[in-house]
Amino acid sequence: MPTRIEIDHRPRIGADRHPEKAHRPDQPLARKPAWIRVKAPTHPVYFETRALLRDNHLATVCEEAACPNIGECWSRRHATMMIMGDVCTRACAFCNVATGLPGQLDADEPRRVGDAVAKLGLRHVVVTSVDRDDLADGGARHFAHTIRAIRAAAPGTTIEVLTPDFLRKDGALEIVVEARPDVFNHNLETVPRLYPSIRPGARYFVSLQLLARARELDPELFTKSGLMVGLGEDKGEIHQVMDDLRAAEVDFITLGQYLQPTVKHAPVSHFATPEEFAAYATAARGKGFLMVASSPLTRSSYHADADFAAMQAARRAGSQATAARAR
Ligand code: SF4
Repeated sequence: MPTRIEIDHRPRIGADRHPEKAHRPDQPLARKPAWIRVKAPTHPVYFETRALLRDNHLATVCEEAACPNIGECWSRRHATMMIMGDVCTRACAFCNVATGLPGQLDADEPRRVGDAVAKLGLRHVVVTSVDRDDLADGGARHFAHTIRAIRAAAPGTTIEVLTPDFLRKDGALEIVVEARPDVFNHNLETVPRLYPSIRPGARYFVSLQLLARARELDPELFTKSGLMVGLGEDKGEIHQVMDDLRAAEVDFITLGQYLQPTVKHAPVSHFATPEEFAAYATAARGKGFLMVASSPLTRSSYHADADFAAMQAARRAGSQATAARAR
């Protein structure tokens, strides 16, 4: 019998969840501007979604990352599955997922994810995971099993994977791409200058190369990446990251506001206004991204279903335009 990982959904805070951050001085939480505030969930479908996820013992990044969009997304049955447990081997300064040594992989989890996707009737699903530096393949095979289980249970559902960077896990990316997800997503999260303090376990050019290589391995795959605004970067650095992503032929960029989860996390340097996000979107479109999502509440999985459909249509329209030009 596989070992089932029991997810403890009680909120955990501070040193219990982030022992590596316990020694850091407190960074007071800034008051959020009016355009960030969201309402507490009340919709009955929100509670149905929550019950179904609990019954299937599935973790979601929506809860683990304390996402502000959970009320809206779960009320539309849109949840982002987080596989391989709810404890991460990395300790990023922005992230609310608990840090520590994760448990054993749950071999039955891919089947339960597939079942949940079928029961939720999702058109498009996003599957992400904690970092599993403790596993020889970084969890790539578990991603591949999950993709195949979703295909078997819900053949009409398109699949987006939001993976770790597979740093020093040779062959891991190939295993994931071979399972044929529709979208390969890996977030750069921030600008290269801030990696040592914000994403200390990661390397900017490794992440960028991962995205470029995914596209090389499967030219039909859509690639996607995201950045948070408000971690201390400046506008010029964001524009440079956009250029780097285009050089890696990434199709879709998401930009959203960083929100500080606890006093032990990196402080918010700046709340960008909706107009600033609109300006980033205009710049990104000008640089040639097929799809751009940029707003204070944008997260990489926010409206991922509708955005995927729009991106497919944009690629089709682009290919038709290219074919028309060639005639
Ligand atoms: S934006 Fe993504 S992480 Fe946030 S609630 Fe929606 S699906 Fe979950």
